[in-house]
Amino acid sequence: MTHETSILIIYTGGTIGMVHDPRTGILKPLGFDNLYKHLPVLESLNFHIDFHTFDPLLDSSNMHPSFWIKLAGVIEENYEQYDGFVVLHGSDTMAYSASALSFMLENLNKPVIFTGSQLPIGVVRTDGRDNLINSIEIAAAQEEETPVVPEVAICFENRLFRGNRTTKFNAEHFQAFVSGNYPILADIGVHIRYNRMHILKPNFKKLKVHKVFDENILILKLFPGISKQAVDCALQTSGLKGIIFETFGAGNAPTAPWFIDSLKEALDRGIILFNVTQCKGGAVELGKYETSAELGRIGVVSGYDITTESAVAKMMYLLGYDFEKDETERLLQTSLRGEMTV
Ligand code: ASP
Repeated sequence: MTHETSILIIYTGGTIGMVHDPRTGILKPLGFDNLYKHLPVLESLNFHIDFHTFDPLLDSSNMHPSFWIKLAGVIEENYEQYDGFVVLHGSDTMAYSASALSFMLENLNKPVIFTGSQLPIGVVRTDGRDNLINSIEIAAAQEEETPVVPEVAICFENRLFRGNRTTKFNAEHFQAFVSGNYPILADIGVHIRYNRMHILKPNFKKLKVHKVFDENILILKLFPGISKQAVDCALQTSGLKGIIFETFGAGNAPTAPWFIDSLKEALDRGIILFNVTQCKGGAVELGKYETSAELGRIGVVSGYDITTESAVAKMMYLLGYDFEKDETERLLQTSLRGEMTV
């Protein structure tokens, strides 16, 4: 007997299922029935498809680590029953959620494909229909009974990206995402052409789901003229454990003594500083310029070519485990799920 491929679609919210409130004109998420009635094509796909709908549905700007835990829980509970998962999610914070899920789902051997749209499914020119159907095809794709994409990915506008390498860079174009430091995993045209060399390989180990996050972090984004008062205020945040330190270019920052002293004082208090570049492509190279050499010397750790979204998820995930500071710093600089090139 041949096995019928089964896919679980998990609906979290986002534009794809939204409608305009007739009174205010504001876009709001609407229940699953609204989404389903616009997708008769699902009936004609050759797969068994089930649905899980979250209640309430979210605009993804309301996304929170506690929701990531629920989402990972749904995948965990259904992991054995389904061949692949499609997560319908708002595009605004999709890169954060996909990154978080990649860290939570250790030994993932099945596809978890995030998608959504820029126009609601009920709008004639919607990009949601193609995004969803492509995602289902990819979640179902197998070769020799092994999934072709056994990782957390984002499928948007005819491209498949590694989830933890992705950034939303356009609020207008259907092509909303970019992966500045990692090749696309698949190019979707007449054929879906998989970039096999760059897709993670399954390890056939048992799925392990990590469900702890520590949210005591912040992003400190540099700009010319940033004041001592602003820097110190951020560094003195109560309960703070880690900072995603968004620097210029290849990881560079001002060399002013007050600035270095403020960072050093925070490092001495046990706060971790993770250096991530503001650029959408390229990597941090501590010591390449004089403006980064001192950062390395005082103990700022390199984020190499990680995205800010992935750095946020990774730091919350690692801090959740309360490791020794050295160990957290070592893991931050290690590629755990293909999120950075070291
Ligand atoms: N605000 C929406 C959301 O992120 C935008 C979208 O889905 O594209 O939920």
